Amino acid sequence: MNIPEVNLPRVVVIGGGFAGLQIVRRLRKHPYQVVLIDKHNYHTFQPLLYQVATSGLEPDSIGYPIRKIFEGHRNFLFRLAEVASIDPEIKVIDTSIGILRYDYLVVATGSDTNFFGNKGLEDYAMPMKSIPEALNIRSLLLQNFEEALLTSNLKEREALMNVVIVGAGPTGVELSGAISELRKHILPHDYPDLDVRRMSVHLIEAGPRVLPAMSEEASENALQALKRLDVEVWLNTMVQDYDGRLVMTKDGRAFHTRTLIWAAGVKGVSPDGIPAESLVRGGRIEVNRYSEVRGLHDVYAVGDIAMMSTEAYPHGHPMVASVAIQQARHLAKNLIAKGKDREMEPFVYDNPGAMATIGRNKAVVDLHRFKFKGAFAWLVWMLVHVVQLIGFRNKLLVMINWTWNYVRYARDARLIIRPYHRSADANDTPRPS
Ligand SMILES: Cc1cc2nc3c(=O)[nH]c(=O)nc-3n(C[C@H](O)[C@H](O)[C@H](O)COP(=O)(O)OP(=O)(O)OC[C@H]3O[C@@H](n4cnc5c(N)ncnc54)[C@H](O)[C@@H]3O)c2cc1C
Repeated sequence: MNIPEVNLPRVVVIGGGFAGLQIVRRLRKHPYQVVLIDKHNYHTFQPLLYQVATSGLEPDSIGYPIRKIFEGHRNFLFRLAEVASIDPEIKVIDTSIGILRYDYLVVATGSDTNFFGNKGLEDYAMPMKSIPEALNIRSLLLQNFEEALLTSNLKEREALMNVVIVGAGPTGVELSGAISELRKHILPHDYPDLDVRRMSVHLIEAGPRVLPAMSEEASENALQALKRLDVEVWLNTMVQDYDGRLVMTKDGRAFHTRTLIWAAGVKGVSPDGIPAESLVRGGRIEVNRYSEVRGLHDVYAVGDIAMMSTEAYPHGHPMVASVAIQQARHLAKNLIAKGKDREMEPFVYDNPGAMATIGRNKAVVDLHRFKFKGAFAWLVWMLVHVVQLIGFRNKLLVMINWTWNYVRYARDARLIIRPYHRSADANDTPRPS
């Protein structure tokens, strides 16, 4: 891997997501050699993936090269590689480009889509955890409209236009709102020979309300806003199966759609070698209040992958960016303290609140003392996301795009650059024409 041996303890960080980046930043100027490994050479700003999927933003507005972020950092090295396994006995990790010794290991590998073992969903549903996956959704939505033009079978045409989104957390709500706005402002102009009014957008949620992690007030406001956008919301409804054309629910409903977006579950993804007894529900790694992996020494886990049980969060913290950032900052502080033979301190999460946007001038915000909605909430949502983006260029690009989209009702990134081919479709019978 061509990592020089220097006279400093080596911290190896797996994953350049929200957590991984913070660790590296905070260890700057401290006596550690820091090696960051990621299977991508860029950081992904996941909260805006849905805008890439719905043609509101170009993908390079929400990705940022990791090497650029840490330009000029001394004692820092980045390697583009996938980590396959760790061997805590001999303090070594095995990657796609070779093995590496560590003194301290930080696992910050995040999470991936969880289809809960459902083969039909695995084969046909669209996940959205990465930029390539968001681009797949963008391509599929547009390809389906192109195909809808070509069929005279009305049922098939509607199935090609309809979209079903499963999971009414922030991602599902934001996607439904954005697709509904595409239906209202863009698609009728792009496809004047299609009756776009026949397109339906369904949001299916197993629980009794949308945005279940937010206040009841925010849920109700979001539900009303979705209804105003003609999103058909199905609460207390569980999806049972999907075969690429028909969604079946447990209570016997059926929806015809060629696009099912799955935003209903995530699971931790950790390299092999973490002892089975340290893995808990959802594939997360159990850590103590110092982020140290249960049963291991000098191996830490932070962010989505880590399950830290506290009084306030007995089943672990929510899998959101603010937790990842705070845990990583705290661990960096503790590693610095450890280097100085000082006591480590236990982590306490400071919940900054939650927010979600439903569409143009529509958002809900829950803060400690205030809850608000509407155009002001939408402005706050935009501001918070722009501030959190990495790099001045990305902030500028996003602001210009949003202003353009707002003024012109535009979604100009609707390009099929890399056509999407579902691998499971190879086994399909030919489609009726
Ligand atoms: C669509 C979507 C919308 C979201 N919206 C919000 C929101 O509005 N607000 C909010 O707070 N949170 C939101 N989240 C959640 C938030 O993005 C996550 O909580 C956060 O990214 C977790 O940070 P992390 O560092 O733990 O993992 P990630 O940011 O996922 O980073 C993990 C990194 O590890 C790398 N990696 C994984 N496995 C390996 C391996 N074996 N070898 C090498 N590299 C590896 C990955 O490439 C990735 O770069 C959203 C998530 C999604 C998917």
